[in-house]
Amino acid sequence: MVLAQLGGSISRAIQQMSNATIIDEKVLNDCLNEITRALLQADVQFKLVRDMQTNIKKIVNLDHLAAGHNKRKIIQQAIFNELCKMLDPGNPPFTPKKGKPSVVMFVGLQGSGKTTTCTKYAYYHQKKGWKPALVCADTFRAGAFDQLKQNATKAKIPFYGSYTESDPVKIAVDGVDRFKKENCDLIIVDTSGRHKQEAALFEEMRQVSEATKPDLVIFVMDSSIGQAAFDQAQAFKQNVAVGAVIVTKMDGHAKGGGALSAVAATKSPIIFIGTGEHMDEFDLFEVKPFVSRLLGMGDLSGFVDKIHEVVPTDQQHELVQKLSEGNFTLRIMYELFQNLSKVGPIGQLFSMLPGFSAELMPEGFEKESQQKNKRYMTMMDSMTNEGKLIAAYLLIRNL
Ligand code: GDP
Repeated sequence: MVLAQLGGSISRAIQQMSNATIIDEKVLNDCLNEITRALLQADVQFKLVRDMQTNIKKIVNLDHLAAGHNKRKIIQQAIFNELCKMLDPGNPPFTPKKGKPSVVMFVGLQGSGKTTTCTKYAYYHQKKGWKPALVCADTFRAGAFDQLKQNATKAKIPFYGSYTESDPVKIAVDGVDRFKKENCDLIIVDTSGRHKQEAALFEEMRQVSEATKPDLVIFVMDSSIGQAAFDQAQAFKQNVAVGAVIVTKMDGHAKGGGALSAVAATKSPIIFIGTGEHMDEFDLFEVKPFVSRLLGMGDLSGFVDKIHEVVPTDQQHELVQKLSEGNFTLRIMYELFQNLSKVGPIGQLFSMLPGFSAELMPEGFEKESQQKNKRYMTMMDSMTNEGKLIAAYLLIRNL
């Protein structure tokens, strides 16, 4: 993943600074210059990067730090805080409540990944016990209904649309009414996109919004446009009440960091990022855990959340308790690996553990590690507890 390269460059810069015998002005400047280069390469706006550098220098005033202060820790914390600030829009998103009917309308340009994201969003909530439903009000793009229908059927999510009705407002209203009667608590309306921002697109969005009165409007955008995301997000915000943003295709574009920071600069909260074409390649976006994972510092809350998805309900309580007590043993790891085939990408789970970074995972890692995982599990199944410990150790070393 491209973001992993950005995270890798920043954590390497921090590591080099940490390895220096004495932390002086030069060491700090080298570290900040390295980080600046990495952020600019990810298309983060120059002004944001410059402000970040100035702020860190203000906080970490080496002349005023008394001897005995842990300069490494202070610098590391300042970098972490500034990266969080860069990605934090300062206002939390509206979150629908399970069990209470909510209408969520998706808007965005054609090709941004809107239809795919509607299903990912529905599937994510379905796994957490919601009752989602999908409405296809995209009458502009030929094949949009078939695509949504196909995805919805695969995920066993109810859907509504029409091959003959050409009025998106009527379809949206009919679909929302129907699913409200069926007690669905998350009714997702996919609207039309266009190749570029234009009056007809915004007018249609406004009409669907007025007729369905969504509780939340989610703007979907493609990360490949980098810092140009600022203008696009602003344009959508000015035309419809955008309450949250989902940034897609974070798996393939060097400009992902620029897109995330640009959206945050419009004061729109990002709630998820798309990290691949598959249904489960979809990550909840929360600033602090995201930066923590980016820098290889782990995200134990995300890890615990993942456990809820993969571990059978009757075993969850015990496992979460052990983890919150700091008891992450090889035995737990063995049990987790037994459930791994159900999680989807193994890298997602590993990047949540402190010390593991997605960048450490080489090309082809996912496939190869799934195969290795299967082999090791077969071996471990036939072993005593002591043998399991040794095998788990070998497994970690070979991943
Ligand atoms: P729409 O026109 O905005 O509804 O876009 P689609 O949902 O049809 O998506 C356009 C293309 O982007 C499709 O080929 C999707 O599979 C792909 N896509 C969507 N989200 C992602 C993502 O997060 N990563 C990658 N690599 N591809 C994505």
